[in-house]
Amino acid sequence: MEKWILVHYDEIALKGKNRSFFEKKLASNLKKLLGGKLLKAYGRILIKTDLKDREIKKRLRLQPGVANFSFCYKVPNKIEEIKETALELAKESKRKTFRIDARKSVKFKKSSREINEIVGEEVRTKTKKKVNLNKPGITIYIELTEKGTFIYKDKFKGVGGLPIDSSGKLISLISGGIDSPVASYLAMKRGCDVVLIHFYNETLSELDKINELLEKLRGINPKIKLYMIPFTEIQRKIIAKVNSKYRMIIYRRLMNQIAEKIAEKDNVKGIVTGDSLGQVASQTIDNMRAIDESVKIPILRPLLTYNKNDIIKLAQKIGTYEISIKPYQDCCSFMVAQHPETKAKIDVIKEAEKGLNKKKLIEKALDNLNL
Ligand code: ATP
Ligand code: MG
Repeated sequence: MEKWILVHYDEIALKGKNRSFFEKKLASNLKKLLGGKLLKAYGRILIKTDLKDREIKKRLRLQPGVANFSFCYKVPNKIEEIKETALELAKESKRKTFRIDARKSVKFKKSSREINEIVGEEVRTKTKKKVNLNKPGITIYIELTEKGTFIYKDKFKGVGGLPIDSSGKLISLISGGIDSPVASYLAMKRGCDVVLIHFYNETLSELDKINELLEKLRGINPKIKLYMIPFTEIQRKIIAKVNSKYRMIIYRRLMNQIAEKIAEKDNVKGIVTGDSLGQVASQTIDNMRAIDESVKIPILRPLLTYNKNDIIKLAQKIGTYEISIKPYQDCCSFMVAQHPETKAKIDVIKEAEKGLNKKKLIEKALDNLNL
């Protein structure tokens, strides 16, 4: 009897011919996340690792592509061993009622129903538990596959979605705030590999916080990359040359243009931001349009329609909230206007940024990156 972690995925199983591509991605992501040994068995991935159960739960709970997971015992496809292991699991629980749920994805001389009956009888007679099919205290799951039989009693829910790096690569603009780490996570949950970019003010920013956010996101995707780009000079120029009303919009346009340059070098297909419609003055449809116009690649906003409370709940779930609420300064108070533009017009914005030598500013920002 061996102990394994059993991972089920749902959505990727529906992907027809691409199924094996998604399975391979998920398997390779799980290997990076948990280490150890891997086994594939029709519609499931099994992992054996030295990590503690608590740590495994923490990591798998948020892993994109995982529908649910369990700690299971693996035994040969033999009814005596199946009975014995199921009985042992039943004895571990104090619950008074139970149900057996057997499934097969391999030829076996007994039907699933017969397995349920044989194992059910064993548990009923050797413990004091009663069968309850509708509302059992515990369910003992038995899965017979070509790789052996997996037996377990607790299923832990995952987040579903698609395995990271199965839908392509995006840049995610990450500030020190609550929203952008959540937006990055949602992009990963739909199968994107994300490259993070943070623009910082060398005189104001204390980068520990950004590194802490990075570490949190690395708990989900261990190989996530972060570019840190100094932005003080650009901020200074914007303050010197641009009417306060338009500063935030032009500041965002420059961020996107720098991100787009990195995207070109890194096979990236779009930019993710943490914008949410109407959350702050700069996040109106007109402003977003004026910001989007600065680049050719799409700007994607996973949180566009989310209420702040829902974003906070997600941030708490992924563990970034406590980090995000720590104080942090990435732009000085001159940048935030008292009466910012909310209905930006593209030609007005373009006129307002004319005084900046944008090309040079962008080149300079990219200079120390060694792309
Ligand atoms: P957040 O909580 O993500 O900071 P916010 O509500 O504070 O969001 P803004 O400050 O208006 O929003 O920023 C909007 C988006 O622009 C952010 O979600 C992020 O994607 C991007 N952004 C803002 N500041 C930076 C920065 N210094 N570096 C990289 N991206 C940034
Ligand atoms: Mg912010």
